[in-house]
Amino acid sequence: MRFPQALHPARAVVLAGMILSIIPSLASHAIAQTSLAEPAWLPSAYQYDKPIYPDANYDEQIPAPKDLLGFPLGSRPARHAQIERCFQAWAKSERLTLVTHGFTYEHRPLYHAIITSPENHARIDAIRSAIGALADPRKLSSDAEAERIIRQTPAIAWLGHSIHGDELSGADAALALAYYLVASRRDDVAELLDNLVVIIDPMLNPDGRDRFITQTDEFQGTVPSLDTNSMQHAGRWPRGRTNHYYFDLNRDWILGVNPETRGRRAVIVRWNPQLVTDAHEMGSDDTYLFYPPRAPFNPNTSPLLHKWWKTFADEQGAAFDAYGWSYYTREWADFWYPGYTDGWGAMQSAVGILYEQAGTGGRPIRQSSGAILTYREAVHHHAVSSLSNIKTLAGHRREVLQDFLAQKRAALAADDARPATFLFPPGPNTTRTRALLDNLANQGIEIEVATSAFSAKNLTNTLGETAEQRDFPAGTYLVQRRQPRAALAGALLDFDPRMSDEFLTSERRELETRRRSRIYDITAWCLPMAAGLEAYWTKKEVHVTHSAYARAERSDGGLPITEHAYAYAIDSSDDSWERAAAFLLQAGVKVRAAERRFNVADRSFPTGSLLIRAHENDRDLTKRLRQAAEFSGAAVYSAATARSSDDTPDLGGQHFLLLERPRVALLSGSPTSTNSMGSLWHAFDQDLGLGISLIDAAALRGDLRRYNVIVLPSLFGSAERLLAPVKSSLKQWVRGGGTLIAIGNVAAKLAREDSGLSAVRLRRDMLDDLGKYASAVALERQAGRTPVAPRQVWDTPTEHVPPGANLDKPETELNAKALDEWRRIFSPVGVIVRGRVNQDHWLAWGLPAELPLHCSGNNVFLAKYPVQAPLRYAAPTELRLSGLLWPEAGSRLGDSAYVTVEKLSRGQVLLLAQEPNFRGAWAGTRRLLINAVLLGPGCGTSPPAP
Ligand SMILES: [Zn+2]
Repeated sequence: MRFPQALHPARAVVLAGMILSIIPSLASHAIAQTSLAEPAWLPSAYQYDKPIYPDANYDEQIPAPKDLLGFPLGSRPARHAQIERCFQAWAKSERLTLVTHGFTYEHRPLYHAIITSPENHARIDAIRSAIGALADPRKLSSDAEAERIIRQTPAIAWLGHSIHGDELSGADAALALAYYLVASRRDDVAELLDNLVVIIDPMLNPDGRDRFITQTDEFQGTVPSLDTNSMQHAGRWPRGRTNHYYFDLNRDWILGVNPETRGRRAVIVRWNPQLVTDAHEMGSDDTYLFYPPRAPFNPNTSPLLHKWWKTFADEQGAAFDAYGWSYYTREWADFWYPGYTDGWGAMQSAVGILYEQAGTGGRPIRQSSGAILTYREAVHHHAVSSLSNIKTLAGHRREVLQDFLAQKRAALAADDARPATFLFPPGPNTTRTRALLDNLANQGIEIEVATSAFSAKNLTNTLGETAEQRDFPAGTYLVQRRQPRAALAGALLDFDPRMSDEFLTSERRELETRRRSRIYDITAWCLPMAAGLEAYWTKKEVHVTHSAYARAERSDGGLPITEHAYAYAIDSSDDSWERAAAFLLQAGVKVRAAERRFNVADRSFPTGSLLIRAHENDRDLTKRLRQAAEFSGAAVYSAATARSSDDTPDLGGQHFLLLERPRVALLSGSPTSTNSMGSLWHAFDQDLGLGISLIDAAALRGDLRRYNVIVLPSLFGSAERLLAPVKSSLKQWVRGGGTLIAIGNVAAKLAREDSGLSAVRLRRDMLDDLGKYASAVALERQAGRTPVAPRQVWDTPTEHVPPGANLDKPETELNAKALDEWRRIFSPVGVIVRGRVNQDHWLAWGLPAELPLHCSGNNVFLAKYPVQAPLRYAAPTELRLSGLLWPEAGSRLGDSAYVTVEKLSRGQVLLLAQEPNFRGAWAGTRRLLINAVLLGPGCGTSPPAP
């Protein structure tokens, strides 16, 4: 179909005015740039001037990227504001609409551009709802209607770029493609836009991108460096992969922790695209990768996808062959974790395709072959990929739409082989339950709310326990697998998805022969397990009278706060407790935490609940409490008397420990792991609303007395260099009453040596003493539970030996060291295992008796009295809950400590074996971290008198 003029004549005037207004600023920009221009003696290979789309035939009335950017496209990476300027200019074209779908933490707008023919723009809502009917066949009145939609409706492509902010070339390729689609006067482009709605999200991570470009720009001089080690390419800590809080957004699609993710998920849910692509960069010495991916495949992947991956790859390969470029498919990128762009897109029934281009850091580099790879060439590769993929989509539009509908119809058909209904009873932690459900709803998952009580059969819970029948109250949330987004529902909620036998065999072979795993990311992520919430699945569909789930605004707790009460109480079961406690402590309120269950006004409060006595506080207490309720959503209960109405403690007694205001320093900067540090920072700042100090390693050598909590995240590389110069000052600080929290490899380092900070040891260092630790665990488990037979005390004295307390036996004929080394090969790559909690310990207040833990790596922490381990891994045979845990790994891990607590003079040391707030989504273990900070200084140390 012919396409008239790309620009409304009426709009051309506006546009011309805009260009004029830009030109003066461009002129000064060009002058400023000359000092960084490349010298003339440089080899011509530094320049790559191939046109990106050679026969484009651009409409000269539409401003070209170089005029908008002030430099030729691909000569250097464009920043967020420059890309924004281009899209805003092109939004004056009748082919493009620009939409803001959110803001980053640093307040950069997040955009997507909708590009299609003017005729399609005129009926864009009708197109969207027609595709919406294919995406939800319950809306189709007949097969004939489906046929008509497939015949008449453009297919939808969603193209994402540079989700890793330091993988720069994607966003500049987005500019090239958008300009081509908007400005090219070619007939085939007009035809392409008749057949497609192309949604371009040019920058999935603007904060990371601008951070990285600022870093690399700082190191540019007059002579470019081709060395990829140079900071001109590599930047410096924290580089730009991650967003503001250092989250990897290409893991966040299923988790929705970040505003970037939530904004763009809503766009995809709204548009139901058939193609989802994501342009990345990989190692600088590589070539180019696209899909098909390799095994393991997520079991919710549609079989139809394999056909389409091949079709798209054949044409993408041909497009690269035309230039003689290198590329490959079916290597290293697997399809198991559904939290990547392409994986999540595929679970939404799109053809999800990953692009990986050798990275350059935005300037020319020399590869090991000696060849120079310019940034512009990297951009060119991505631009050719995208154009090829959308041409394939347009060329196969009807078949792709048919297969899209087929996937949705299959989703609504019965599937006896898989969990049919997931159930979430309304527990005491409403805040966390709502957070989980809001995350599902934002991804388009349909949720039912039971309007009356019911019972269900053949249930399995997140701890692997089965029940023939269980009653559920009204208000229980249900997710049916049979819904248009069945694949995604399964991918998010299936408790224990299994890899194919074939993959398992190949993974084992790879581990045994090459000592490396073929798994690219984690093997388990089940969202209800991560949340640490009670949840069930059953194979038989449960149908009850229900209403649809609706997102609720956060309340202010909903209780009146009495003026003249004796005290006030806040329940620790709900996550609103965390924010309430943080608020009150920062406001200078004297807050106590209960070490026993207590009652207020006939309501029972579990350990860790807050008690605020009026006489210990200022007159503005009720005002502070109201502010805390508003800030946190926590309900504040008023107690008229200190007297308990039953056998629980009176409120004026000693079972309520006075908390200290946390003065937290979080180690930041190089060499901390950005993911570890960022997830902690996010927990303190966003979840808790707690003001903290981000300090660098040098500050650890200074006066630490201003802090009462220091948190050391995992590090990139060795912890020795960090710890060696600060060990004695840290020790002195702990002894003076500080709470030191060390995570991951820093915790392992403290456990490996006589730092004087910890008596915890790593398994690999204690192979001759395993029996002692096994006995200690058996005694610890038995503590407080020994049945007392009075006759065996008074008359026939009989010792009670805890079962398992004498495990001191050689494990096999292999010596212990060789066996341990062998088992370490099979160490978990992101698995979910069972943890057992000592609920009496203050660190575990608010945690259930058992909960799922995320676990990776080979460090296994051994602890015995007097070291306390409030949370341990379960015994080897009952350990695995979800994901791939080889029995060898389970044997090492079973019964070891997840977290340890040790008193050191007036202070204490806490070692955490794993990231407690993994990816910002592990609410189940995040509470440990929060307890450590909010309760630690009051409950675990001896602070000086005021
Ligand atoms: Zn990437």
